[in-house]
Amino acid sequence: MSAHLPIFGGQNPVFIPGPTNIPDRLRYAMSIQTTDHRAPDFVELLEPLLADLKKVFKTTTGKIITFPSTGTGGWEAAITNTLSPGDKVLVARFGMFSHRWIDLCQRHNLDVEIIDCEWGQGAPADLYGERLAADREHKIKAVLVTHNETATGVRSDVNAVRQAMDTTNHPALLYVDCVSSLACMDFRMDEWGVDLAVSGSQKGFMLAAGMAIVGVSEKALAAAETAKCPRCFFDFRDMAGANASGGFPYTPPLQIMYGLGESLKLLLEEGLDNVFARHFRTAEGVREATRAWGLDLCAKRPSLYSDTVSAVFVPEGLNSDDLTNHAFEVYGISFGVGLGQMAGKAFRIGHLGSLTDAMALSGIAILEMAMKDLNYPIQLGSGVAATQDYYRKSACPVEIAA
Ligand SMILES: *Cc1c(COP(=O)(O)O)cnc(C)c1O
Repeated sequence: MSAHLPIFGGQNPVFIPGPTNIPDRLRYAMSIQTTDHRAPDFVELLEPLLADLKKVFKTTTGKIITFPSTGTGGWEAAITNTLSPGDKVLVARFGMFSHRWIDLCQRHNLDVEIIDCEWGQGAPADLYGERLAADREHKIKAVLVTHNETATGVRSDVNAVRQAMDTTNHPALLYVDCVSSLACMDFRMDEWGVDLAVSGSQKGFMLAAGMAIVGVSEKALAAAETAKCPRCFFDFRDMAGANASGGFPYTPPLQIMYGLGESLKLLLEEGLDNVFARHFRTAEGVREATRAWGLDLCAKRPSLYSDTVSAVFVPEGLNSDDLTNHAFEVYGISFGVGLGQMAGKAFRIGHLGSLTDAMALSGIAILEMAMKDLNYPIQLGSGVAATQDYYRKSACPVEIAA
Protein backbone atom coordinates (compact mmCIF):
# COMPACT_ATOMS: atom_id res chain seq x y z
CA MET A 1 0.00 0.00 0.00
CA SER A 2 1.26 3.44 -0.86
CA ALA A 3 2.09 5.69 2.06
CA HIS A 4 1.40 8.62 -0.22
CA LEU A 5 -2.18 9.28 0.86
CA PRO A 6 -3.87 12.51 -0.14
CA ILE A 7 -4.30 13.31 3.54
CA PHE A 8 -0.53 13.90 3.71
CA GLY A 9 -0.61 16.42 0.86
CA GLY A 10 1.69 19.28 1.65
CA GLN A 11 3.17 17.60 4.73
CA ASN A 12 6.17 16.19 2.92
CA PRO A 13 9.00 18.50 1.98
CA VAL A 14 10.27 18.54 -1.60
CA PHE A 15 13.90 17.76 -2.38
CA ILE A 16 13.93 19.29 -5.84
CA PRO A 17 16.38 22.12 -6.56
CA GLY A 18 13.65 24.67 -7.01
CA PRO A 19 10.99 25.64 -6.49
CA THR A 20 11.88 25.23 -2.84
CA ASN A 21 9.85 24.52 0.25
CA ILE A 22 8.20 27.80 1.22
CA PRO A 23 8.60 28.86 4.87
CA ASP A 24 5.22 29.55 6.47
CA ARG A 25 6.23 33.15 7.17
CA LEU A 26 6.58 33.67 3.43
CA ARG A 27 3.39 31.79 2.54
CA TYR A 28 1.43 34.05 4.88
CA ALA A 29 3.16 37.13 3.49
CA MET A 30 2.07 36.14 -0.03
CA SER A 31 -1.53 35.59 1.06
CA ILE A 32 -2.76 39.14 0.56
CA GLN A 33 -5.76 40.76 -1.01
CA THR A 34 -5.28 42.75 -4.21
CA THR A 35 -4.03 46.29 -3.78
CA ASP A 36 -3.87 48.99 -6.45
CA HIS A 37 -0.47 49.12 -8.14
CA ARG A 38 -1.33 52.53 -9.60
CA ALA A 39 -1.99 53.96 -6.14
CA PRO A 40 0.55 56.39 -4.71
CA ASP A 41 1.59 53.94 -1.99
CA PHE A 42 2.86 51.25 -4.43
CA VAL A 43 6.28 52.85 -4.21
CA GLU A 44 6.43 51.95 -0.50
CA LEU A 45 6.30 48.29 -1.49
CA LEU A 46 8.66 48.56 -4.46
CA GLU A 47 11.51 50.73 -3.26
CA PRO A 48 12.64 48.75 -0.19
CA LEU A 49 12.61 45.58 -2.31
CA LEU A 50 14.98 47.05 -4.88
CA ALA A 51 17.23 48.45 -2.13
CA ASP A 52 17.42 45.17 -0.20
CA LEU A 53 17.96 43.13 -3.37
CA LYS A 54 21.09 45.18 -4.01
CA LYS A 55 22.46 43.95 -0.67
CA VAL A 56 21.85 40.33 -1.69
CA PHE A 57 23.47 40.80 -5.12
CA LYS A 58 26.26 42.75 -3.35
CA THR A 59 26.08 45.70 -5.68
CA THR A 60 26.08 49.40 -4.92
CA THR A 61 26.62 50.70 -8.45
CA GLY A 62 24.28 48.31 -10.28
CA LYS A 63 20.52 48.47 -10.71
CA ILE A 64 18.01 45.75 -9.92
CA ILE A 65 15.40 45.14 -12.58
CA THR A 66 12.56 42.68 -11.99
CA PHE A 67 9.96 41.23 -14.33
CA PRO A 68 6.87 39.08 -13.80
CA SER A 69 8.54 35.95 -15.20
CA THR A 70 10.96 33.20 -14.17
CA GLY A 71 14.72 32.81 -14.38
CA THR A 72 14.48 31.95 -18.07
CA GLY A 73 12.79 35.29 -18.69
CA GLY A 74 15.68 36.90 -16.82
CA TRP A 75 18.12 35.28 -19.29
CA GLU A 76 16.06 36.58 -22.21
CA ALA A 77 15.95 40.08 -20.71
CA ALA A 78 19.71 40.13 -20.09
CA ILE A 79 20.49 39.00 -23.64
CA THR A 80 17.96 41.03 -25.64
CA ASN A 81 18.59 44.31 -23.81
CA THR A 82 22.34 44.33 -24.30
CA LEU A 83 23.13 42.53 -27.58
CA SER A 84 22.32 42.76 -31.29
CA PRO A 85 21.63 39.88 -33.70
CA GLY A 86 24.94 38.47 -34.96
CA ASP A 87 26.90 39.53 -31.86
CA LYS A 88 29.42 36.98 -30.71
CA VAL A 89 28.87 35.31 -27.35
CA LEU A 90 31.36 33.07 -25.52
CA VAL A 91 29.88 30.42 -23.24
CA ALA A 92 30.87 27.14 -21.60
CA ARG A 93 28.45 24.20 -21.64
CA PHE A 94 28.71 21.75 -18.74
CA GLY A 95 25.12 20.91 -17.90
CA MET A 96 21.49 21.31 -18.90
CA PHE A 97 21.11 24.90 -17.71
CA SER A 98 24.19 26.22 -19.51
CA HIS A 99 22.90 24.27 -22.53
CA ARG A 100 19.47 25.94 -22.36
CA TRP A 101 21.06 29.38 -22.13
CA ILE A 102 23.04 28.60 -25.30
CA ASP A 103 19.83 27.52 -27.03
CA LEU A 104 18.18 30.81 -26.05
CA CYS A 105 21.12 32.79 -27.48
CA GLN A 106 21.01 30.82 -30.73
CA ARG A 107 17.29 31.41 -31.13
CA HIS A 108 18.00 35.14 -30.78
CA ASN A 109 20.40 34.81 -33.72
CA LEU A 110 23.55 35.47 -31.74
CA ASP A 111 26.83 33.94 -32.91
CA VAL A 112 27.49 31.52 -30.08
CA GLU A 113 31.02 30.22 -29.47
CA ILE A 114 30.72 27.20 -27.21
CA ILE A 115 33.38 25.70 -24.96
CA ASP A 116 32.13 22.16 -24.42
CA CYS A 117 33.23 20.64 -21.12
CA GLU A 118 32.63 17.33 -19.46
CA TRP A 119 29.46 17.49 -17.35
CA GLY A 120 30.53 17.60 -13.72
CA GLN A 121 33.27 20.11 -14.46
CA GLY A 122 32.93 23.84 -13.77
CA ALA A 123 33.40 26.92 -15.93
CA PRO A 124 36.97 26.64 -17.33
CA ALA A 125 38.52 30.06 -16.65
CA ASP A 126 41.70 29.06 -18.50
CA LEU A 127 39.82 28.16 -21.68
CA TYR A 128 37.74 31.35 -21.49
CA GLY A 129 41.08 33.19 -21.19
CA GLU A 130 42.52 31.47 -24.28
CA ARG A 131 39.49 32.30 -26.44
CA LEU A 132 39.45 35.90 -25.22
CA ALA A 133 43.20 36.33 -25.86
CA ALA A 134 42.71 35.02 -29.41
CA ASP A 135 39.91 37.54 -30.00
CA ARG A 136 42.17 40.51 -30.76
CA GLU A 137 39.46 42.40 -32.65
CA HIS A 138 37.11 42.12 -29.68
CA LYS A 139 34.34 40.45 -31.65
CA ILE A 140 33.14 38.71 -28.48
CA LYS A 141 30.56 41.00 -26.88
CA ALA A 142 29.35 38.72 -24.10
CA VAL A 143 30.88 36.13 -21.78
CA LEU A 144 28.30 33.82 -20.18
CA VAL A 145 28.86 31.78 -17.03
CA THR A 146 26.46 29.56 -15.11
CA HIS A 147 27.47 30.08 -11.47
CA ASN A 148 25.64 27.04 -10.16
CA GLU A 149 24.86 24.35 -12.74
CA THR A 150 21.72 22.86 -11.22
CA ALA A 151 21.82 19.75 -13.44
CA THR A 152 25.18 18.54 -12.12
CA GLY A 153 25.46 20.23 -8.71
CA VAL A 154 28.53 22.21 -9.74
CA ARG A 155 29.49 25.66 -8.51
CA SER A 156 31.92 27.59 -10.69
CA ASP A 157 34.47 30.25 -9.87
CA VAL A 158 32.99 33.37 -11.48
CA ASN A 159 35.80 35.58 -10.22
CA ALA A 160 38.35 33.43 -12.05
CA VAL A 161 36.49 34.11 -15.32
CA ARG A 162 36.51 37.83 -14.52
CA GLN A 163 40.27 37.60 -13.90
CA ALA A 164 40.71 35.92 -17.30
CA MET A 165 38.78 38.80 -18.91
CA ASP A 166 40.83 41.42 -17.09
CA THR A 167 44.15 39.72 -17.88
CA THR A 168 43.37 39.97 -21.58
CA ASN A 169 41.90 43.47 -21.17
CA HIS A 170 38.77 42.22 -22.88
CA PRO A 171 35.84 44.67 -22.95
CA ALA A 172 33.02 42.06 -23.26
CA LEU A 173 30.19 42.16 -20.74
CA LEU A 174 30.07 39.37 -18.13
CA TYR A 175 26.70 37.59 -17.77
CA VAL A 176 26.15 35.23 -14.85
CA ASP A 177 23.27 32.84 -14.22
CA CYS A 178 22.96 32.89 -10.43
CA VAL A 179 19.40 31.54 -10.38
CA SER A 180 20.20 28.60 -8.10
CA SER A 181 23.04 30.19 -6.12
CA LEU A 182 21.92 33.70 -5.14
CA ALA A 183 20.86 33.99 -1.49
CA CYS A 184 22.29 30.50 -0.79
CA MET A 185 25.97 30.74 -1.74
CA ASP A 186 28.24 33.76 -1.84
CA PHE A 187 27.72 35.97 -4.88
CA ARG A 188 29.49 39.30 -5.39
CA MET A 189 28.20 41.27 -8.33
CA ASP A 190 30.43 44.34 -7.96
CA GLU A 191 33.58 42.62 -6.73
CA TRP A 192 33.46 40.04 -9.54
CA GLY A 193 32.64 42.67 -12.15
CA VAL A 194 29.39 41.00 -13.17
CA ASP A 195 27.43 43.07 -15.70
CA LEU A 196 24.26 40.99 -15.79
CA ALA A 197 23.31 38.72 -12.89
CA VAL A 198 20.18 36.66 -13.52
CA SER A 199 18.03 35.17 -10.78
CA GLY A 200 14.44 34.33 -9.90
CA SER A 201 12.01 34.20 -7.00
CA GLN A 202 11.65 30.44 -6.46
CA LYS A 203 15.12 29.29 -5.42
CA GLY A 204 17.21 31.14 -2.83
CA PHE A 205 14.33 33.50 -2.06
CA MET A 206 12.11 30.52 -1.20
CA LEU A 207 9.01 31.93 -2.92
CA ALA A 208 6.68 30.72 -5.65
CA ALA A 209 7.90 31.14 -9.22
CA GLY A 210 6.76 34.37 -10.80
CA MET A 211 9.57 36.89 -10.81
CA ALA A 212 12.81 37.26 -12.75
CA ILE A 213 15.34 39.34 -10.84
CA VAL A 214 18.27 40.79 -12.78
CA GLY A 215 21.24 42.78 -11.49
CA VAL A 216 22.39 45.20 -14.20
CA SER A 217 25.69 47.12 -14.16
CA GLU A 218 26.05 50.69 -15.43
CA LYS A 219 27.97 49.35 -18.42
CA ALA A 220 25.12 46.95 -19.23
CA LEU A 221 22.54 49.73 -18.90
CA ALA A 222 24.55 51.81 -21.36
CA ALA A 223 24.61 48.85 -23.77
CA ALA A 224 20.80 48.75 -23.63
CA GLU A 225 20.73 52.12 -25.41
CA THR A 226 22.23 50.69 -28.60
CA ALA A 227 21.40 46.95 -28.48
CA LYS A 228 19.18 45.89 -31.38
CA CYS A 229 17.69 42.57 -30.31
CA PRO A 230 13.92 43.00 -30.34
CA ARG A 231 12.29 43.27 -26.92
CA CYS A 232 9.17 44.87 -25.55
CA PHE A 233 7.85 43.19 -22.41
CA PHE A 234 11.44 42.78 -21.17
CA ASP A 235 12.77 46.23 -22.06
CA PHE A 236 15.05 47.43 -19.25
CA ARG A 237 14.36 51.07 -20.14
CA ASP A 238 10.59 50.74 -19.69
CA MET A 239 10.93 48.90 -16.38
CA ALA A 240 13.73 51.05 -14.95
CA GLY A 241 11.96 54.20 -16.13
CA ALA A 242 8.65 53.24 -14.53
CA ASN A 243 10.38 52.07 -11.32
CA ALA A 244 12.23 55.40 -11.06
CA SER A 245 8.89 57.15 -10.73
CA GLY A 246 7.60 54.55 -8.29
CA GLY A 247 5.56 52.48 -10.71
CA PHE A 248 5.47 49.45 -12.96
CA PRO A 249 4.91 49.49 -16.76
CA TYR A 250 2.28 46.76 -16.46
CA THR A 251 0.73 44.61 -13.73
CA PRO A 252 3.29 43.59 -11.10
CA PRO A 253 3.22 40.16 -9.42
CA LEU A 254 1.94 41.67 -6.17
CA GLN A 255 1.78 38.51 -4.08
CA ILE A 256 5.37 37.63 -4.99
CA MET A 257 6.45 41.16 -4.15
CA TYR A 258 4.94 40.94 -0.67
CA GLY A 259 6.58 37.55 -0.23
CA LEU A 260 9.89 38.94 -1.43
CA GLY A 261 9.76 41.71 1.15
CA GLU A 262 9.40 39.10 3.87
CA SER A 263 12.04 36.85 2.31
CA LEU A 264 14.57 39.69 2.23
CA LYS A 265 13.75 40.44 5.87
CA LEU A 266 14.38 36.78 6.77
CA LEU A 267 17.66 36.62 4.85
CA LEU A 268 19.04 39.93 6.09
CA GLU A 269 17.95 39.25 9.69
CA GLU A 270 19.85 35.96 9.60
CA GLY A 271 22.79 37.62 7.86
CA LEU A 272 24.03 36.49 4.45
CA ASP A 273 27.18 34.88 5.86
CA ASN A 274 25.02 32.79 8.20
CA VAL A 275 22.73 31.87 5.32
CA PHE A 276 25.73 30.64 3.31
CA ALA A 277 27.16 28.74 6.31
CA ARG A 278 23.76 27.11 6.90
CA HIS A 279 23.57 25.96 3.29
CA PHE A 280 27.09 24.55 3.47
CA ARG A 281 26.24 22.62 6.61
CA THR A 282 22.98 21.21 5.23
CA ALA A 283 24.75 20.25 1.99
CA GLU A 284 27.70 18.68 3.76
CA GLY A 285 25.31 16.49 5.78
CA VAL A 286 23.71 15.29 2.55
CA ARG A 287 27.15 14.63 1.04
CA GLU A 288 28.05 12.55 4.11
CA ALA A 289 25.12 10.27 3.29
CA THR A 290 26.21 9.83 -0.34
CA ARG A 291 29.72 8.93 0.89
CA ALA A 292 28.28 6.36 3.28
CA TRP A 293 26.28 4.82 0.41
CA GLY A 294 29.42 4.68 -1.72
CA LEU A 295 27.72 6.67 -4.49
CA ASP A 296 29.56 9.30 -6.56
CA LEU A 297 28.57 12.91 -6.99
CA CYS A 298 28.55 14.29 -10.54
CA ALA A 299 30.69 17.21 -9.34
CA LYS A 300 34.26 16.14 -10.01
CA ARG A 301 35.99 17.59 -6.94
CA PRO A 302 35.13 19.22 -3.62
CA SER A 303 35.95 22.75 -4.81
CA LEU A 304 33.05 22.36 -7.30
CA TYR A 305 30.48 21.03 -4.82
CA SER A 306 27.27 23.00 -4.84
CA ASP A 307 25.66 23.82 -1.52
CA THR A 308 22.18 24.00 -3.08
CA VAL A 309 21.94 20.72 -5.02
CA SER A 310 23.77 17.39 -5.13
CA ALA A 311 23.57 15.27 -8.28
CA VAL A 312 24.30 11.65 -7.42
CA PHE A 313 25.19 8.87 -9.88
CA VAL A 314 23.31 5.59 -9.37
CA PRO A 315 25.24 2.31 -9.70
CA GLU A 316 25.82 0.90 -13.23
CA GLY A 317 22.81 -0.93 -14.58
CA LEU A 318 20.26 0.94 -12.47
CA ASN A 319 18.02 3.74 -13.73
CA SER A 320 17.75 6.89 -11.60
CA ASP A 321 14.28 7.63 -13.00
CA ASP A 322 13.02 4.35 -11.51
CA LEU A 323 14.31 5.56 -8.15
CA THR A 324 12.78 9.03 -8.29
CA ASN A 325 9.48 7.60 -9.57
CA HIS A 326 9.43 4.96 -6.84
CA ALA A 327 10.19 7.50 -4.08
CA PHE A 328 7.34 9.65 -5.35
CA GLU A 329 4.79 6.91 -5.94
CA VAL A 330 5.36 4.91 -2.78
CA TYR A 331 6.55 7.50 -0.25
CA GLY A 332 5.23 10.75 -1.72
CA ILE A 333 8.61 12.45 -1.83
CA SER A 334 10.07 14.26 -4.83
CA PHE A 335 13.76 14.26 -5.64
CA GLY A 336 15.22 15.92 -8.72
CA VAL A 337 15.47 13.76 -11.84
CA GLY A 338 18.59 13.53 -13.99
CA LEU A 339 18.54 16.11 -16.79
CA GLY A 340 20.05 15.89 -20.28
CA GLN A 341 23.14 13.65 -20.27
CA MET A 342 22.33 12.77 -16.66
CA ALA A 343 18.86 11.37 -17.47
CA GLY A 344 18.57 7.90 -15.99
CA LYS A 345 22.12 8.08 -14.62
CA ALA A 346 21.81 10.46 -11.70
CA PHE A 347 19.18 11.80 -9.34
CA ARG A 348 19.42 15.12 -7.56
CA ILE A 349 18.83 16.13 -3.97
CA GLY A 350 17.82 19.77 -3.72
CA HIS A 351 18.95 21.21 -0.39
CA LEU A 352 18.42 24.91 -0.82
CA GLY A 353 16.32 27.36 1.05
CA SER A 354 14.21 26.39 4.01
CA LEU A 355 15.45 22.97 5.10
CA THR A 356 15.90 21.95 8.73
CA ASP A 357 18.01 19.00 9.94
CA ALA A 358 14.75 17.11 10.53
CA MET A 359 13.62 17.70 6.95
CA ALA A 360 17.00 16.80 5.43
CA LEU A 361 17.18 13.61 7.50
CA SER A 362 13.69 12.60 6.40
CA GLY A 363 14.79 12.89 2.79
CA ILE A 364 17.91 10.80 3.34
CA ALA A 365 15.87 8.15 5.18
CA ILE A 366 13.24 7.92 2.44
CA LEU A 367 15.89 7.74 -0.27
CA GLU A 368 17.48 4.81 1.56
CA MET A 369 14.14 3.02 1.75
CA ALA A 370 13.50 3.59 -1.95
CA MET A 371 17.01 2.41 -2.86
CA LYS A 372 16.64 -0.68 -0.69
CA ASP A 373 13.27 -1.46 -2.32
CA LEU A 374 15.02 -1.39 -5.70
CA ASN A 375 17.92 -3.60 -4.57
CA TYR A 376 20.60 -0.94 -4.44
CA PRO A 377 23.70 -2.27 -2.67
CA ILE A 378 23.23 -0.08 0.38
CA GLN A 379 22.70 -0.68 4.08
CA LEU A 380 19.51 0.76 5.58
CA GLY A 381 20.49 3.48 8.04
CA SER A 382 24.02 3.95 6.76
CA GLY A 383 23.42 7.32 5.13
CA VAL A 384 21.11 8.48 7.91
CA ALA A 385 23.76 7.65 10.52
CA ALA A 386 26.47 9.54 8.63
CA THR A 387 24.24 12.58 8.25
CA GLN A 388 23.12 12.40 11.89
CA ASP A 389 26.71 12.28 13.02
CA TYR A 390 27.67 15.31 10.97
CA TYR A 391 24.61 17.35 11.95
CA ARG A 392 24.88 16.70 15.67
CA LYS A 393 28.61 17.43 15.76
CA SER A 394 28.24 20.61 13.77
CA ALA A 395 25.14 21.79 15.65
CA CYS A 396 25.99 21.26 19.31
CA PRO A 397 27.45 24.23 21.11
CA VAL A 398 28.65 21.96 23.97
CA GLU A 399 31.09 19.08 23.93
CA ILE A 400 29.36 15.87 22.89
CA ALA A 401 30.26 12.23 22.77
CA ALA A 402 32.16 11.23 19.64
C1 LIG B 1 16.05 27.14 -12.18
C2 LIG B 1 17.16 27.62 -13.03
C3 LIG B 1 16.96 28.49 -14.14
C4 LIG B 1 15.67 29.08 -14.58
O1 LIG B 1 14.59 28.38 -14.45
P1 LIG B 1 13.11 28.95 -14.45
O2 LIG B 1 12.35 27.70 -14.37
O3 LIG B 1 12.90 29.69 -15.71
O4 LIG B 1 12.97 29.84 -13.26
C5 LIG B 1 18.07 28.90 -14.84
N1 LIG B 1 19.29 28.52 -14.49
C6 LIG B 1 19.53 27.73 -13.45
C7 LIG B 1 20.94 27.38 -13.11
C8 LIG B 1 18.47 27.25 -12.69
O5 LIG B 1 18.71 26.45 -11.63
